[in-house]
Amino acid sequence: MRAVMVGVMGLGALLVSFGIVFFLWAPATATSVPTPKTASAPAPAPAPSAQAARAAPIAAAFAESTGSIGSAPPPPARLPVSVAAAPACQGGADALGVSRTVEIDTTDGPGFGFEHFKQHDFLQPGEVVLTFDDGPWPHNTPAVLAALAANCTKAVFFPIGEHSMWAPEILRQVAAAGHTIGSHTWSHKDLAKLSVQDAKDEIEKGISAVHWALGAPAAPFFRFPALSHAPEMVTYLGERNIGIFSTDMDSLDFKIRKPDQVIASVLAKLKKNGKGIVLMHDFQRATAEAAPELLRQLKAGGYKVVFLKAKAPLQTIASYDGMILKDVKLPTLSDRPTSNVVRTIAN
Ligand SMILES: [Zn+2]
Repeated sequence: MRAVMVGVMGLGALLVSFGIVFFLWAPATATSVPTPKTASAPAPAPAPSAQAARAAPIAAAFAESTGSIGSAPPPPARLPVSVAAAPACQGGADALGVSRTVEIDTTDGPGFGFEHFKQHDFLQPGEVVLTFDDGPWPHNTPAVLAALAANCTKAVFFPIGEHSMWAPEILRQVAAAGHTIGSHTWSHKDLAKLSVQDAKDEIEKGISAVHWALGAPAAPFFRFPALSHAPEMVTYLGERNIGIFSTDMDSLDFKIRKPDQVIASVLAKLKKNGKGIVLMHDFQRATAEAAPELLRQLKAGGYKVVFLKAKAPLQTIASYDGMILKDVKLPTLSDRPTSNVVRTIAN
């Protein structure tokens, strides 16, 4: 018996050693992305709230859909251990790609997007910045990620805090693919209609939620819900050294709902503006369905993607980290995936 135990312990030590060797072998420049605990589990059912109520009919439609969204490549069962270790993009010459990557120094909270901020005109003619709001969301966010990956291109995501708590594994897929992830408040309220304290809470809880979901800091990039720039909060974001991202062209994809019309809307506005930050929603099914063809047409139209990265990560405020955990769930011990907990034994 003892010999068996020693043998088992020896095997364990060997595996641990192998793990350490593998870890040391990994590229030193790799950015670690925590492996989700339930990566293979189905996306969690959203908790009830105003946001969920707004989304519920759409979510039901996803479940019934057998179209292109349903057939999009499923998310990987396990995430790559690092962004740098991900396989090189296989998009070929037809892929949109990234023409240049720029670093944004968000000290004092600069604003971008000519709809509201005209100070920093950093894009050349034909250059676009792809941005996606309101995720992470089952089916739609992975479909947008698949389209971006097929095109070897990168975007900036502005996820909602509550959605990030419901579907952290999807947000981690966004991070693992190397996209920039900012924040977009806790529950997508219009901050101009809230008290100063409530508006700050919405901003900070959103930042803490993204950090919690990723197990890593968000970028200091923020987008106001409905582009409603409450002046006190613009100043507050400056004090927090968080950059504010409005848009040069709003796709209005959340109103359109038809993929071909989303594409037409973006291309028409780009043609008029010639360049700019494009606001879309990975939350929206029409946008997810439109993404492959939209990216193909951007490439065909000669547009170049500029990818934005933050100069420094964003630190959360500890009291808000605690606050969001109270909102997320009761302290059940089980974190096993549903497929391990519930099994069909007769039907
Ligand atoms: Zn939004």
